[in-house]
Amino acid sequence: MVLPFKHEPFTNFNEETNRKEFRQALNSVEEQLGKEIPLVINGEKVYTDDKITSVNPAKKDQVIGKASMATKKHVEQAMEAAEEAFKDWGNWSAEARAEVMFRTAAIVRKRKFEFAATLVYDAGKPWGQADADVAEGIDFLEYYAREMIELAKGKPMEDRPNENNSYFYQPLGPGVAIPPWNFAFAIVCGTSVGPLVAGNTVLLKPSENTPVIAYKLIEALVEAGVPDGAVNFVPGDPSDIGDYLVDHPKTRFINFTGSRATGTRIIERASKVQEGQDFLKRVVAEMGGKDTIIVDENADLELAADSIVQSAFGFQGQKCSACSRAVIHEAVYDKVLEMAIEKTKEITVGNAAEKDVFMSAVINQKQFDKIKDYIEIGKNEGELAYGGETDDSEGYYIYPTIFKDVDPTARIMQEEIFGPVVAFAKAKDFDEMLEIANNTEYALTGAVISNNRKHLDRARYEFQVGNLYFNRGCTAAIVGYQPFGGFKMSGTNGKAGGPDYLPQFLNAKTVSEMF
Ligand code: GLU
Repeated sequence: MVLPFKHEPFTNFNEETNRKEFRQALNSVEEQLGKEIPLVINGEKVYTDDKITSVNPAKKDQVIGKASMATKKHVEQAMEAAEEAFKDWGNWSAEARAEVMFRTAAIVRKRKFEFAATLVYDAGKPWGQADADVAEGIDFLEYYAREMIELAKGKPMEDRPNENNSYFYQPLGPGVAIPPWNFAFAIVCGTSVGPLVAGNTVLLKPSENTPVIAYKLIEALVEAGVPDGAVNFVPGDPSDIGDYLVDHPKTRFINFTGSRATGTRIIERASKVQEGQDFLKRVVAEMGGKDTIIVDENADLELAADSIVQSAFGFQGQKCSACSRAVIHEAVYDKVLEMAIEKTKEITVGNAAEKDVFMSAVINQKQFDKIKDYIEIGKNEGELAYGGETDDSEGYYIYPTIFKDVDPTARIMQEEIFGPVVAFAKAKDFDEMLEIANNTEYALTGAVISNNRKHLDRARYEFQVGNLYFNRGCTAAIVGYQPFGGFKMSGTNGKAGGPDYLPQFLNAKTVSEMF
């Protein structure tokens, strides 16, 4: 008997005992740094000569681990293993597969601080964000396992006289999970274990920025009893194996979270039926966002400023849900801007492996350069109200940055920056606020800070985003509470952590018998 789903609580780092324990975890993870990580193919650990070197973004000469790199040959072997393993794993009962996920969750829970500390080094995540990332991974394990137990019951169907109808779900086969580096445990876990608990087998290609934490998930799944070949671990160079994984005629599904450019490329390539392929590939793609917080005339301004600052700068703004546009009623614009600047001044920035800071460095040189370029673009498009400093001498630091008086069509109001940069724009009324909020190609998250019920009701239907929040920030969706995913150019609306997620990795079947 399985108890109803409840989300994993976050650690309170204001408590000294937790802080002490976390520091110990950071120390013991530090002692393990630099290890070699294997591929895992059919349960076998494979070490290759070519390696991906993962570094601490906040201290770029600190090597976190060296991950073996899969070539096309390894992918081919992994696909064969996944195809073979599917014959067994796909026939396990949903309860038995769910049990493996519950055990994995228990293993991760036991090693929670070790996993979170690894995220601090591998991804440059501040403590609270790292802890939340691990909690979300645990939630995906617990939630999808329960969902699968329910789905396995099928759905009730009416029968006419002399007729017996049934409707149930069956897994697809082997497929590919391609998660990003920004939720380097949670989304690695969600994109893999969702299809897996549904009975499919998986080739996991983690981001080359964060292979160390991804391997920890594999360790936990193996310890929990996932059979050989059901999950294969194939980190590698995307330009070598990315298309190969997607194009493979045996790949049944691609579960992707990442950039819009890669997502649209995957959708395009997966639509081609390859020689020897007798099915259509499924693609679940979670892509970018250009997320807006609207602040209404009669809003709680303290709450508004807090929501903007937290959503714009949490994990250095490297979330597809991050607030990068604040659209504010002209009557309160100056006040909210001033309050947001004051709050931003209090933000601590540094190496989270050394101290409990609010912000650390951005993930790599490429992102650092890109964000820096956008700061220059912003200086021509609006007025730099706060921040703008960057420093990549030791780590890839971009300090929290606010632009004001930005035109709604400006590039920094339209293009995803994926860094700690937020643009403020003024609007004369709620109509204009909604119009600006909707004038992007993305539709992922948004928030409205307002005490006007009519405005909230309008936003409910007219604000075009997959995740809309009232009187709070626009990040930090909780599995099973706020299913996550958008539409328009934000993706296929996969709704991770929600009731419609698993059917994307299942075939529904109707059987009707006459008597
Ligand atoms: N689910 C996360 C949130 O609600 C964002 C995921 C992402 O950035 O890909 O903040």
